[in-house]
Amino acid sequence: MKEVEILIVGGGPAGLGCARALAQRGFRSLVLERRSWPLDKVCGEGVMPVGVAALRRLGLEHPPGQPFAGVEYVHGQKHAGANFAEGPGRVIRRPDLSQALLHPQLDYQDKVEIKHLSRQGSCFEVESAAGERWRCRLLVGADGLHSRVRRELGWQLPTPNWLRRWGWRQHYQMAPWNQRVEIHLSGVSEAYLSPAGPNLLGVALIQGPGKGRSQWLDDFPQLRERLGEPIGPLAGIGPLCQRVRHVAAPGVVLIGDAAGYLDACTGEGLSLAFLQAEALGQNYPDLNAYVRRYRKLVRHYYIVTGLALAMMRFPRIFMPVLSRYPQQLQRILSANQGLASLPKSLGGLALRALPALAAEWLGLAP
Ligand SMILES: Cc1cc2nc3c(=O)[nH]c(=O)nc-3n(C[C@H](O)[C@H](O)[C@H](O)COP(=O)(O)OP(=O)(O)OC[C@H]3O[C@@H](n4cnc5c(N)ncnc54)[C@H](O)[C@@H]3O)c2cc1C
Repeated sequence: MKEVEILIVGGGPAGLGCARALAQRGFRSLVLERRSWPLDKVCGEGVMPVGVAALRRLGLEHPPGQPFAGVEYVHGQKHAGANFAEGPGRVIRRPDLSQALLHPQLDYQDKVEIKHLSRQGSCFEVESAAGERWRCRLLVGADGLHSRVRRELGWQLPTPNWLRRWGWRQHYQMAPWNQRVEIHLSGVSEAYLSPAGPNLLGVALIQGPGKGRSQWLDDFPQLRERLGEPIGPLAGIGPLCQRVRHVAAPGVVLIGDAAGYLDACTGEGLSLAFLQAEALGQNYPDLNAYVRRYRKLVRHYYIVTGLALAMMRFPRIFMPVLSRYPQQLQRILSANQGLASLPKSLGGLALRALPALAAEWLGLAP
């Protein structure tokens, strides 16, 4: 049995970010990852400005990747877009992000899959698939969407069927035509196009149940025709929505996707992972203070993502509003990152959307 003060399960953005944040305050931790670094993952790879700033505070002064100016929704011939008021975000290929987050002064081990854990007094004991064992004073579950730590703790809650969506990702060798992340809407699914490099376009697709690999971009035939040579395998993950009973208890805490997830449609997952990692580093060992900070960090995400999910079902109503009032969209992009007042941004949008809703209801919508 090996003794460590802080054991982090999962070496993705949340896990490595957490190890960095703890190290900044002089706390050593050990990160255990079941795969081999650098890690890839199904992801749109767009890091919001708030996430880029958090990455810099975590010690990545020059994050890799390409800048992107904002987001642009596309439905048929209609476009509605806005740039970020805070400056650009960055599209960072996941293996590049993973490589950049590793630091020689951190302790980490790959090819270690955690299978079991148990509480022993004020400590946790953790066992890998190969039978290796560790005892720690703080266990951090940063093991992603289908967190083993969360399930072993009994903190997993069921996901309602109507919230079950799956994400897919494929890269294409071609020059991106938009410096914003382009989001194509069909009403039942969305395709997210990220400018990942001068000659690289990332495409992420999010769709509901009953649709798999063979339905790739079926809802977007015109877009599919426009795409170049695919690179690498088409990969998927889901269901995206994961509900949790708790995020912390004495001696254990969940961060990143392991701490619960609603949907990838607002592209906040990486930023939240970095912000939570930073908050844990700043508040350790006071987990109550961390949980208070955590709640503030995720509140806007759940509200804006829930609304975005509802709005994207009705593009015919919302596209004309968003295209006519790009400044409202810009405010919502800021509110989504916790950088602008949520009630004011949503109130402004609601005020403009009401006439469009009334027109739709009266059958007068274009
Ligand atoms: C389709 C799609 C598009 C997305 N687009 C964006 C986007 O554009 N921008 C954005 O910010 N976010 C996006 N996200 C969300 C983002 O990918 C996640 O929020 C982010 O990866 C969370 O990081 P994490 O470290 O919590 O989890 P992960 O990145 O999943 O890392 C968890 C790590 O834990 C390891 N692990 C799991 N179980 C064990 C175990 N038992 N033992 C040891 N290790 C283990 C895994 O191998 C993995 O490396 C998207 C997600 C999807 C699905």
